[in-house]
Amino acid sequence: MIIQQLRMSRHFWRGTLVILGLFLCGVGLLVAALLIRTYFITKQQVIWQEQGAQAVKLDDREIKQLRQALIGAVRIPTVSFSEEEQNFTALAEFEDYIRKVFPLVFSSNFIQHEIVTQYSHLFTVRGLDQSLMPYMILAHLDVVPAQDEGWKFPPFSGEEHAGYIYGRGTLDDKCCVIVSLKNFFSCFYQVSGHNGAMKIVEKLQLHGVKLLFVVDEGLAVLDGIIQGVKRPVALVGTSEKGSITLNLTVNQPPGHSSMPPPETSIGILAAAVSRLENNPMPNMFGKGPEASMFEQLSGEFSFPLNIMMANLWLFSPVISRELEKTASSNALVRTTTALTIFNSGIKSNVIPHSARATLNFRLHPAQTVDEVLDIVRNTINDERVKLSVINSFDPLPISPYDESNFGYQILKRTIQSVFSGVPVVPGLCIGNTDSRHFVNLTDSIYRFSPFQLKPEDLGR
Ligand SMILES: [Zn+2]
Repeated sequence: MIIQQLRMSRHFWRGTLVILGLFLCGVGLLVAALLIRTYFITKQQVIWQEQGAQAVKLDDREIKQLRQALIGAVRIPTVSFSEEEQNFTALAEFEDYIRKVFPLVFSSNFIQHEIVTQYSHLFTVRGLDQSLMPYMILAHLDVVPAQDEGWKFPPFSGEEHAGYIYGRGTLDDKCCVIVSLKNFFSCFYQVSGHNGAMKIVEKLQLHGVKLLFVVDEGLAVLDGIIQGVKRPVALVGTSEKGSITLNLTVNQPPGHSSMPPPETSIGILAAAVSRLENNPMPNMFGKGPEASMFEQLSGEFSFPLNIMMANLWLFSPVISRELEKTASSNALVRTTTALTIFNSGIKSNVIPHSARATLNFRLHPAQTVDEVLDIVRNTINDERVKLSVINSFDPLPISPYDESNFGYQILKRTIQSVFSGVPVVPGLCIGNTDSRHFVNLTDSIYRFSPFQLKPEDLGR
């Protein structure tokens, strides 16, 4: 009996040793796989950096001229209050201004200038080789409204202070307008108001124009903004999120507050929006361009984050949960739900007939408008809440960013030459740009604004 037991335990130990051996082999292989992948992903980024072109050099006089040109542009209040309501006087003044500051652009006989829908400008530069496809650079002239409160200097002063120019539109997007006009002699581009972009697309389509690539405003060089990344890194938006603006309405018989029904339109609607807030859309991390962004950036993180980022196939559940914790990174991993308007009631003793709420969803590239609306309906799960879509569009397709894509590579080299060899990685634009109207003209749309931003700039 005792001998048998000993024999059993010897078998047991032998078995355990085999399992332990296999387990250690497995761990060894896993660690090797993690390290190999980390090494190759990091190395890839270094090779690209070494291919950086020569830096663009401007002399002091040119830099001063550019600065003055931007200050003058910021002082013209080209405000758009809505699609229809714009400061048209300022837009007209802006045209006079660029004609005065960049006279050669308008007088050169190899640049064609056209005005589209009165205030948008389309410039065409003819290259030497007519068989090559054109590319396009976009920038918008209009700015969002600004009140004086909260500004260090008045928003349309264009004040220069301690090496910075202050004013509405310096970052978004007049700097791109001025830089594009300055670089004019090597490009083909348009400057447009928001309505103008669509009209320009129609015009180009009519002429059968196909574009090799399009560059618009968007992401930038981020310095200290991505947690765990010490060096500045350039993010190029290869996709942008979709959007749904949705009205929810509840209509119930009106009444007097002295004899209230158990549920009112306000209560029913409040419960519905509360369910939407409490049940966020699913975490889609790894299914959009954000995964490539972290993978390609992995070499910039310190241990152990570098290994985790290079091996999202294993660590994405941990990383995606971490990203959910702050609003800005949460926007990268899912379709966001924002309750923006809520209206009901007119008098303290009247139970209102109707209650209405407006929500804005920003769609992760791995979801469609229809899928999100289905989830919304299922989450609300109340027939009394009526949905009506005010406007919507699907997320933009992911533009190619591989080694062989000319547009992405030329943009990358240009960024590296200007920003002293920063790593350049694909990213997801969480806001929207005019470039989304260009999907029928090209599959290569890149969203990048040539600025280096620090954490304190985000509030601006
Ligand atoms: Zn903008």
